[in-house]
Amino acid sequence: MKAALITEKETISFLEFEEPEPGADQVVVDITLCGICGTDIHGYKTPGPMRPSICGHEWTGVVSKTGVEVTRITEGDRVVVSVPPSCGSCSACLAGQMDKCMTVLEATVGAGRFDTPHGGFAAQIAVNHWRTFLADPRLTEIQAAQIEPTTICFHAVRSTPPALGDVVVVQGAGPIGLTTLQWARVAGAETLIAVEPDPNRREVALALGADHAVEAGDSAEEFVKDLTSGLGADVVYECAGVAPALQSAVDLTRRGGKVSLIGLAASDAITKPAEWLRKEISVFASLGYTHEEFEMSMSYVADGRVDLDAIHTGSFPLNDIEEAFSELSSGVSEQLKVLIDPR
Ligand SMILES: [Zn+2]
Ligand SMILES: [Zn+2]
Repeated sequence: MKAALITEKETISFLEFEEPEPGADQVVVDITLCGICGTDIHGYKTPGPMRPSICGHEWTGVVSKTGVEVTRITEGDRVVVSVPPSCGSCSACLAGQMDKCMTVLEATVGAGRFDTPHGGFAAQIAVNHWRTFLADPRLTEIQAAQIEPTTICFHAVRSTPPALGDVVVVQGAGPIGLTTLQWARVAGAETLIAVEPDPNRREVALALGADHAVEAGDSAEEFVKDLTSGLGADVVYECAGVAPALQSAVDLTRRGGKVSLIGLAASDAITKPAEWLRKEISVFASLGYTHEEFEMSMSYVADGRVDLDAIHTGSFPLNDIEEAFSELSSGVSEQLKVLIDPR
């Protein structure tokens, strides 16, 4: 069986693997769809290989085999991939910080005992059964394939929620920003402003419930100030994931406001510490989610309170994965969430 992996900068290779057989605590999943994450695109643009197991970490599929010890999942179940639950025995868990479990963190970055030899850009994958979640039967395949990244945003908004009536800015209207925007509305934001350079993405943000969508830069700061009697936003969710966006998030926030970091900026950022101090800003960062949050986010999507269909703009067969990656990393693509179909 072949799995697509990022083996070098701007290089995707189809490597040969054995047909997966489940270990005692594993299930084999026939993958239906696997999303391309911003992390995958970042790995594609960075020198060196990407860790195999996270190359395609947003998948859904149907269980075709189960290991002898597996009782909670059976053949034919439709599942969605998630991080493993907290291990209960690492030093963070023993310190009572179960939601900061080091085993979960390891799995998130593609290492540790829940690791796999390849990711979801393949026809099948064998994983520990705790890394699979039963998909809500009301979800379409396209929705199910987006539950993992959506839950990342759910966790961020749940950790740093707006208060009822707040003015909220979402920086960056890619798939992560567009989902965060919707969670902020669910959580009680009154006025939602998307800040995004791409006019196409601004249109989608408006369609998904943003009250305003403005271009990034000085004009965005002026716009938010005008709207808030010179104060700035109560909460800014940083979803652009580029280094300069860190300071611009603070620039858009009112004194005493909150900045929540969701997008992953891979390079160092220049910041203005005096401005942070003067504004008495609170900065929160979030990564991952708990299994409970996974269930919660999935049921909101199934209830129709968060629209993921508008965020999915294209699917490519596994054989055309290189085309999908080069389009997404071109910087001029009109695609939002792209899914890979190995069937
Ligand atoms: Zn991801
Ligand atoms: Zn742990």
